[in-house]
Amino acid sequence: MDKRQLKKIKEAVLKKKTLVFDQLNKKQKTKVFKFSESYKDFLNQAKTEREAAKLIVQIAKNKGFVDIDTLSTKKSKTGKKVYKIFQDRCVALAILGKEKIVSGANIIASHIDSPRLDLKQNPVYEDLSMGLMKTHYYGGIRKYHWLAVPLALHGTIITSNNETINITIGEDPDDPVFTVTDLLPHLAGKTQANKKISEVFEGEKLNLIAGSIPLGNDKEKERFKLGVLNLLFEKYNLIEEDFVSAEIEAVPAEKARDVGFDRSMIGSYGQDDRICAYTSLEAILDTQHPDKTSIALCFDKEEIGSEGSSGAQSSFLEDFMSDLLFISGQNTDNRSLRKTLINSSCLSADVNAAMDPDFKDVHEAMNAAKLGFGICMTKFTGVAGKAGSSDASAEFVGKIRQIFNNNKIIWQTGELGKIDQGGGGTVAKFLAKSGMNVLDCGPAILSMHSPFEVSSKADVYMAYLGYKAFYSDND
Ligand code: MN
Ligand code: MN
Repeated sequence: MDKRQLKKIKEAVLKKKTLVFDQLNKKQKTKVFKFSESYKDFLNQAKTEREAAKLIVQIAKNKGFVDIDTLSTKKSKTGKKVYKIFQDRCVALAILGKEKIVSGANIIASHIDSPRLDLKQNPVYEDLSMGLMKTHYYGGIRKYHWLAVPLALHGTIITSNNETINITIGEDPDDPVFTVTDLLPHLAGKTQANKKISEVFEGEKLNLIAGSIPLGNDKEKERFKLGVLNLLFEKYNLIEEDFVSAEIEAVPAEKARDVGFDRSMIGSYGQDDRICAYTSLEAILDTQHPDKTSIALCFDKEEIGSEGSSGAQSSFLEDFMSDLLFISGQNTDNRSLRKTLINSSCLSADVNAAMDPDFKDVHEAMNAAKLGFGICMTKFTGVAGKAGSSDASAEFVGKIRQIFNNNKIIWQTGELGKIDQGGGGTVAKFLAKSGMNVLDCGPAILSMHSPFEVSSKADVYMAYLGYKAFYSDND
């Protein structure tokens, strides 16, 4: 066989792996970098699920979306843009399609909660002449990531007379921050050297330093705790009991930054999964008069198993679907709702793990996602023998593959680590329960669940384009 023939065969049969930056012309590259600027702004403004939900609604409202709960009309028409916010932390946006909703919607489902340290309900105490606050971590964290870094407090407090107080402390450069201290290396040897990593870092030792000036003289008991509480009272009118009905989250105080000499990557807290929330938001905002109803869902509680009334296991989607059927004057009976769900298609928009140059051995190189190779389709997640995964059908993966290819979306596939290495899950299996087709699909990132997750700007942009193509072309 001559060289030319061989080349022809290779081109015909071999699967291509495409680096996004190899394919972009100057104009496209400019778009990629411009898009990532607004993405970074979003990350900086939305560090908690409540902040993300609020911001998403605000952006959507500016683009003509209206609160579905205020619509009593049954005459909403094609192209109508609506949103629903539930418990201030779970959001859905939709654009009514030309087809009846019962023929199915195109759904992109992400989550807007991220791992963090929550303040406990009785947090303030003192030790060694310092005021401190106890935390309880939320989601899967590497505990040592949270030591010796500046942390900001974001939260909502319901007072005894039912007032809502929102606080953000540590984001303004003039604000104080909080921190969990770490043991100095000089003294770590004996206590830590021979311990397992899971034993070295204890959840009960993730306590925040909150002050060191006492209230009253040294005859006073707990005067450092009093010092902290007094400031909270003076500044925010808070009393100790208020923490009982509060959700206060300690999150990294840093802002999203460009990473690398070439600024090709973004480093930030909370990219899992606000990277998908933001890209699907932008995708739906850019969708006009779709054939099928387009829906962007942003769930809460994914990081703790999609539980609770605002997680993907709740009836939020069903309720929203019922509302959509109602406002468009269609049947809202149970059978119609079931049909709507079963006829729908869903991209479970979540991150996958990009192969890490320093930890290659936890991945299987042929099937691992890599930074910069486009949006990643993950057919199944789960652990061991795909346990806990909904495993997308060949038919649905085929459909998405075609949509991406037809729209010149650069994509790759991924698995979450080597077989039997570990694993994880997403909202996919909870949505699949209702019968709809679901495929995990989102960018791959480095340092997932750390305070500084790293994404490729090219992948962020491909996710946006991929989601947009799904809304416009999945029929
Ligand atoms: Mn996630
Ligand atoms: Mn996660």
